[in-house]
Amino acid sequence: MSTIEKYDLEGYQLEKAQAEDLKQLLKICRQNMDELDEELVTKAFKLCYLSHLGITRASGEPYYYHPIEVAKIVAQEINIDDVSVIAALLHDTVEDTDVELEDIEYWFGKEVKVIIDGVTKIAGVFKSRDSKQAEAFMKLLLNMAEDIRVILVKFADRLHNMRTIQHLRREKQIQIASETMELYAPLAHRFGLFNIKNELEDLSFKAIDPTSFKFIARKLREKKEARETFIDEFMMPVGRQLRQQHFNFEIKGRPKHIYSIYRKMQRQQKPFEEIYDLFAIRIILEEPHTKEDCWRVYSIFTDWYTPIPERFRDFISVPKTNGYQSLHTTVITNRGKKVEIQIRTRRMDDIAEKGLAAHWKYKEGEKSGSESLDRFVNWVRDVLDNPRPDSTTDFVKDFQLNLYQDEIYVFTPNGELKTLPKHATPIDFAFEIHSEIGERAMAANVNGKMAPLRQKLRNGDQVEIITGKQINLNPDWIDDVVTHKAKSRIRQFIKQKQRKVADDGRDLWLKRAERGKLEITDQELTKIAKRFKYETTQSMFYDVGLGSLDPNVIFREAKKFKSTGRIEDDSTETSSKSEEEIQENYINAARSVGDGKAVILNGEITDVRYTYANCCNPIPGDNVIGFISRDGDIKIHRAMCNNAQHLIKTESDRIVDVQWARNIDGKFLGALRVIGEDRVGMINDITDVLSKSLTTNMKSINVTSNEGMFEGIITLYVDGIKHLNRIIKRLERVQGVKSIIRY
Ligand code: MN
Repeated sequence: MSTIEKYDLEGYQLEKAQAEDLKQLLKICRQNMDELDEELVTKAFKLCYLSHLGITRASGEPYYYHPIEVAKIVAQEINIDDVSVIAALLHDTVEDTDVELEDIEYWFGKEVKVIIDGVTKIAGVFKSRDSKQAEAFMKLLLNMAEDIRVILVKFADRLHNMRTIQHLRREKQIQIASETMELYAPLAHRFGLFNIKNELEDLSFKAIDPTSFKFIARKLREKKEARETFIDEFMMPVGRQLRQQHFNFEIKGRPKHIYSIYRKMQRQQKPFEEIYDLFAIRIILEEPHTKEDCWRVYSIFTDWYTPIPERFRDFISVPKTNGYQSLHTTVITNRGKKVEIQIRTRRMDDIAEKGLAAHWKYKEGEKSGSESLDRFVNWVRDVLDNPRPDSTTDFVKDFQLNLYQDEIYVFTPNGELKTLPKHATPIDFAFEIHSEIGERAMAANVNGKMAPLRQKLRNGDQVEIITGKQINLNPDWIDDVVTHKAKSRIRQFIKQKQRKVADDGRDLWLKRAERGKLEITDQELTKIAKRFKYETTQSMFYDVGLGSLDPNVIFREAKKFKSTGRIEDDSTETSSKSEEEIQENYINAARSVGDGKAVILNGEITDVRYTYANCCNPIPGDNVIGFISRDGDIKIHRAMCNNAQHLIKTESDRIVDVQWARNIDGKFLGALRVIGEDRVGMINDITDVLSKSLTTNMKSINVTSNEGMFEGIITLYVDGIKHLNRIIKRLERVQGVKSIIRY
């Protein structure tokens, strides 16, 4: 039964105690919000109460106390809108009760659903992960939260959990408190939620180091009376003057929060008294006082007390990046005591304490709810993304988030966080973990589903790399990676491979030279390489290894050089070849791996250069046609290839007849598309069949899965069409495979 049928939210009558709680919450909302849908808040309150009924917290209290308190914090401290209050009331329902996201949407609309979904997801991220990497985590949160209110509700949630932390086991307390200290407090600071940040810090400090906390708290209590007396005396003459001039104001002389006193004591290595004595008095001018009035107040203060000029700060004309505005000055009393004075309007004070949320309230107060929220969200992003470099505020100093747009944050299977550049793929991730993982990567599992190695990763993805026993590195990956690590390793691999081909080519040459009883020095060989326009013998042998330069051609040239002692400049020499030479040519070429001389052009094997078209990867047995390219090479296509069909129509004069030679001894690249059920172990089974029962070398496998279906593109080395057909037959027997076609 869905909870929509289960709970009659409109008809249900709250008990007296709960009705009282609701009344209180609505009162706070009315005080802090311009627009308020009381009916909807009431409904959310009822659902919160009913769905959590019967569950208790560690304290033994009914669970619903918690979301109600969180909603009060949201209304009081963050006061953005009623939607966030509703989301706060329901923030634990989807995770902890039988209420579903769809039910939330049905009752409260899409916005509330999105926020609750976000809060639930973020909770999931925290559960299994190592949260030591605070800064990266913060960026992840900011990137993950579709709606900024997700994070605001999360702050309130954490604040209430911290307020009730004493009911948990000590280890748990320390763990949560340090997470709060490392993660939530700095983030709240980022958002300018200074009250929340200070309370989070004090509560965490109290949980982690209760002795130091109590020490400072006791000292503060002892000094409280003396402090209040001092402030009264200090303010007496100024206050009288201000009242005479009809200023409407509030004086705040609260000491800094306990944790910041502690930190100052630590940092400056000073006793409590010295830190405590440096305190600030704040004058808050009520509406409709303006910034000009702040200057008038300043002038009254300096009539009575001597200011220290170098301590003067005008954050009214030049606000801090986070919107903080205030006049700061430090004055000296006639007894030589220094007192910092902060003068600001109520509006400025709200912004200072409640941060961005308050800023938005004032800035966009006249706009309709959702439109101004959008602006607020953009504004937050903007501030987070572009801290002004010239600003010296803590706000900017603490965290430079301006880089996070170019980064993504993904998790290893163990929950370790890895930072990668934007557009990174599982290949980058694999190399990031270990170069060996990168070299052997065959496929990726992203968030529990098979994914292609070339797919771009997204924030919060959990990535697992499936590796094979052999090196599977594909040179084409060079276009799919963005990290330096992956790029350089792939390049290195390509170079190694080229060296291997060149070595193969050199071997072919050495055998040819030996057979012809030719002795030639390296120096002479270099000259011959130059004759063929190669910089080095290495690059010449590379072409021999590829099969595009015939060792016989080198041999003839070398022989001529030996007998005449000079290099022919005439490069158009076309000595006719004996039957034997042609045969030799073919055998040698066919021995080279890959592109051997396997094609008969117009009925005979020739020296003409040819390559296989990438679009259709023809293999021996396929019907093929040749296409003469502009530089004289021949491209071999499968006859049914779309490109080939097009060429036949448009450029038929360049088509040549080609056939496969007999007894080809080489490997060709073929590709298969396998479609089947997306089940665990599918890739393993496929690769097992290939490597064990068919001893086929796979070049790459790219897998996508969608709604339970699995699609794999496998490229592999085959002898020819018969071999490929054997592979298809065998793969069709793999459990869950539905179809296999040549790709
Ligand atoms: Mn909660």
